[in-house]
Amino acid sequence: MGEFDLITRYFKRPTRRAALGIGDDCALLQPRPGTQIAISSDMLVEGRHFFADVDPRSLGHKSLAVNLSDLAACGAKPLAFTLALALPKVNEPWLAEFARGLFELADAHDCELIGGDTTAGPLNICITVFGEVPVINGKSQALLRSGAKAGDDLYVSGTLGDARLALEVFRGGASLSAAEFAAVRQRMERPTPRVALGVALRGVAHAAADVSDGLLGDLGHILTASGVGAELRLTDIHNSIAVTPILKSAGACFLPDFVLNGGDDYELVFTAPVSARADVLQAANLAQTPVTRIGTVTIGPGLVLLDAQGQPVALSSRSFDHFA
Ligand code: ADP
Ligand code: MG
Repeated sequence: MGEFDLITRYFKRPTRRAALGIGDDCALLQPRPGTQIAISSDMLVEGRHFFADVDPRSLGHKSLAVNLSDLAACGAKPLAFTLALALPKVNEPWLAEFARGLFELADAHDCELIGGDTTAGPLNICITVFGEVPVINGKSQALLRSGAKAGDDLYVSGTLGDARLALEVFRGGASLSAAEFAAVRQRMERPTPRVALGVALRGVAHAAADVSDGLLGDLGHILTASGVGAELRLTDIHNSIAVTPILKSAGACFLPDFVLNGGDDYELVFTAPVSARADVLQAANLAQTPVTRIGTVTIGPGLVLLDAQGQPVALSSRSFDHFA
């Protein structure tokens, strides 16, 4: 099977929203009046972001999910994506499953594949997503990292540390029952991008980021970009729904490190003014996504972790860095 047959067979589908899809030198998107296009790319490399033998359907899902998570963090509504794919060889059953996982998630978000590139090489998947953000009275509604203000509440969506726990089980550093492992493995291999929450938080949150590299690291980006600090109440986080019973029972040695520094969660961390607590709840309900208040934005600088007695806890941010 040649390159073009492969594209036609596994990736080309009728265009729904884009002005032009797969088949020409460029695709064409037609932004609606009064909107901006949010753009983000993420690359997944074998051995670095996934195991060589990972289930291809999950890989298709995750490749797009990590990109949609960036749109979510910006409050952008997904429109379309491109797929640049390097494949060691043409393995049709693998491609069929990869495309299935990819399109299942794409369809769930009405996000269409409009182009890409296909080449032979070590397995590598690079997706670029395009999303839409309204501009109201000349002001972009995009959620940025830079909008946090001292006094804001700090929130996180969903749960933290489960994907990291799954990785630990794969590495032999922890053991779980089959059902527990299936649950955390799902979090690692098939993360849920919080797109609906991001959209619902437009005009409510002051700043947002997605948690791809660990809460402390990604929150750190917000704090740096906003020129503020934060206080996190560690015990409250551990006792909240932001930490699953599976992680709590897996062993105290994994808390708080997996919660604070575990990567691959793809939750949203965001700040909002105290006056917007009801709006945050409403956004969470609308998006059917749990959120937990985990701290407060301060004048800073820096991030302070507090224990149950309100005493500072020494903990390092060991957010994931490919070159550190
Ligand atoms: P060019 O060489 O002009 O960059 P190609 O011949 O590589 O274009 O690709 C032909 C068409 O197929 C283009 O429209 C391109 O966007 C699309 N395409 C290539 N690879 C993929 C892929 N993996 N997924 C979706 N579309 C793809
Ligand atoms: Mg090409």
